[in-house]
Amino acid sequence: MGDPFLQRNSAPGLFYGGKMRPDVLNTLFKSITELKGVGPRTAPLIEKLAGRFIVDLLWHLPSGIIDRRYAPKVADAEPGAIATITLQITKHYPSRNKRQPYKIVGMDDTGAMSLIFFHARADYLNKMLPEGETRIVSGKVERFGDGIQMTHPDHIGTTAEIDALKKVEPVYPLTAGVSLKVLGKAIMAALASAPDLPEWLDGPLKDREKWADWETALAQAHAPESNLDLMPTTAARRRLAYDELLANQLALAIVRAQMKRVKGLPLKGDGSLRKKVLDTLPFKMTGAQTFAIAEIDADLASDFRMLRLLQGDVGSGKTVVALLAMLSAVEAGAQAVIMAPTEILARQHFETISAMAEAADLKPVLLTGRERGKSRQAILEKLASGAARMAVGTHALFQDDVHYHDLRLAVIDEQHRFGVHQRLTLAAKGRAVDVLVMTATPIPRTLMLTAYGDMDVSRLMEKPAGRKPIKTVLISNDRLDEVVGAVKRAIDGGARVYWVCPLIEESETTDMAAAEARYDHLKSIFGARTGLVHGRMKSTDKDAAMTAFKDGEIDLLVATTVIEVGVDVPEASVMVIEHAERFGLAQLHQLRGRIGRGADASTCLLLHTGQLGETAKARLKTMRETDDGFVIAEKDLELRGAGELLGTRQSGMPEFRLADLAEHADLLQIARDNAELILTNDPELQGPRGPALRTLLYLFERDAAVRNLRSG
Ligand code: ADP
Ligand code: MG
Repeated sequence: MGDPFLQRNSAPGLFYGGKMRPDVLNTLFKSITELKGVGPRTAPLIEKLAGRFIVDLLWHLPSGIIDRRYAPKVADAEPGAIATITLQITKHYPSRNKRQPYKIVGMDDTGAMSLIFFHARADYLNKMLPEGETRIVSGKVERFGDGIQMTHPDHIGTTAEIDALKKVEPVYPLTAGVSLKVLGKAIMAALASAPDLPEWLDGPLKDREKWADWETALAQAHAPESNLDLMPTTAARRRLAYDELLANQLALAIVRAQMKRVKGLPLKGDGSLRKKVLDTLPFKMTGAQTFAIAEIDADLASDFRMLRLLQGDVGSGKTVVALLAMLSAVEAGAQAVIMAPTEILARQHFETISAMAEAADLKPVLLTGRERGKSRQAILEKLASGAARMAVGTHALFQDDVHYHDLRLAVIDEQHRFGVHQRLTLAAKGRAVDVLVMTATPIPRTLMLTAYGDMDVSRLMEKPAGRKPIKTVLISNDRLDEVVGAVKRAIDGGARVYWVCPLIEESETTDMAAAEARYDHLKSIFGARTGLVHGRMKSTDKDAAMTAFKDGEIDLLVATTVIEVGVDVPEASVMVIEHAERFGLAQLHQLRGRIGRGADASTCLLLHTGQLGETAKARLKTMRETDDGFVIAEKDLELRGAGELLGTRQSGMPEFRLADLAEHADLLQIARDNAELILTNDPELQGPRGPALRTLLYLFERDAAVRNLRSG
């Protein structure tokens, strides 16, 4: 689920009209296969590493250098060093059989050395290193007996080319199958095709930071002279990072301005429905919940549109807050919807909300991808006529043919999986729809700014009373038998158990296979009261398994991370997580949050390999020591660094290629203020800097933001 504002469009120019993109950027948005040396074999590898467009190669910055300026005489050359050596080629010794290398001897006035080639073609070597001629070779010096040799020099050239060889070469992050030579060449070609772009920065900032033009900064970032030039703090890298952050903040500011432009309609309920629901709740609202509701009420009642984030750890009780907000809208005669990122979660919300709303005689409708044909038609009619006052669902809630009678409040339980774009589409379904976004991840403030801009925030810091702490135990994988024994005892004692299988990245198929294998194994031990749920199952089967677990028909549910999102089975009190070291901290926390929701004391068993790295060790230790989501989030940030935290795809946070939030936090602040200033002065970006700023948005593929300007 990409977010066109925050992340890359899957096909830039396609959805948002390639014609709108300034022509000056066209070369940058051609496929990398247009570059010399990028063939059908390497293209997919480079695409995976950097991206599919030429522009992606520009953003692939060097991570190291090779210094070829060391140019010793043969006698002085240090074994182990990279050296550029001038040699008179004296003699070729072709290999006599396949296993023997081809040897070429060369010398200068201090001594002789060998050049070693395996599987070499004689005609090529004769051409490159002809006997009697002087040639320059550059590569790693190796000791050989008393002398030195060089195996497969990285570069061979004539004396005329010495300056080109004796230089500092950038080293790029690589992947198996792509050599530095191939990638470096492709990146150089990409740089050569980079156009002159109009300046989008404002003069005073550029002067103050001593920043160069975009093109110069880009060239400098790709031409490090020393390790210092690789630092995120160099002027070149800071400028590029700022450009990216400005595009991000400008896109968010445009969305926000758009939201605020349409005046809100004050929404005020009379409290009658709420009272009925509150009276039947089996618990008392926490102070944090009550406070959040008051904040939401104030937003709803004002004549600005609400754009509020409700942040609360797993189990903090966001759902009931959402319901009470929705009831206000319904009391005022309007409609309210709540949208979840997955079908399972939508169904669960539907059940919870239906049960609670019954007290107020309200029957929400459920709309997901699974409702089809006649039943879907009936739901659409209810939404269009206003007969349905509340709806629960997935994306299906805002497909083109879904019309609302008077939609005024949209709650988005996003757990990071929706983007600004979806929020907007939904908001466009009604008149001045107020939007409440719920998220379970405690996001540090800097990260929040990049994902949400200046959204208003309510926090549920306090957990409902009566929660028993979860006991977390770390166990080595090879003690699986003991774990099975413990699970058996727990089930015999009436417990319900989640068994989470490892996530093997980038392959749902292997995840599924691992889960299925474990399921077969456990089923042979625990028998029929064992269930399985994974992402590849049909949603009806998924629901059936979840429901059976919830209803207590099965005691042991083997699952992949599909259970991560919001599933609520208060009776579950044991969780086993296999290969816990493969999960991120935030994910472990989300998973563990599935237990400890009921009256029973809960236990979480984190299984891990014997050989733990330092970071993995620290992660698991954190899990054992705390279950405070904010503490865990901070620790996560510390262990991974902001860049990596953002880089995780499943988090749905914007991914930055050039900016590193740990290093460029000051720039984020400047970008935010600047974006606001820009839009205050020139809301449609029609002024003198307008075209340049639009170019910036396209450069970073925030195309949808520009589209929004035009339609707005
Ligand atoms: P979240 O979505 O924030 O993870 P939920 O809304 O699913 O949390 O709530 C978790 C559980 O806590 C639910 O079973 C809910 O009924 C219960 N709950 C919510 N608020 C309270 C409260 N104030 N006191 C006790 N239990 C509560
Ligand atoms: Mg929830």
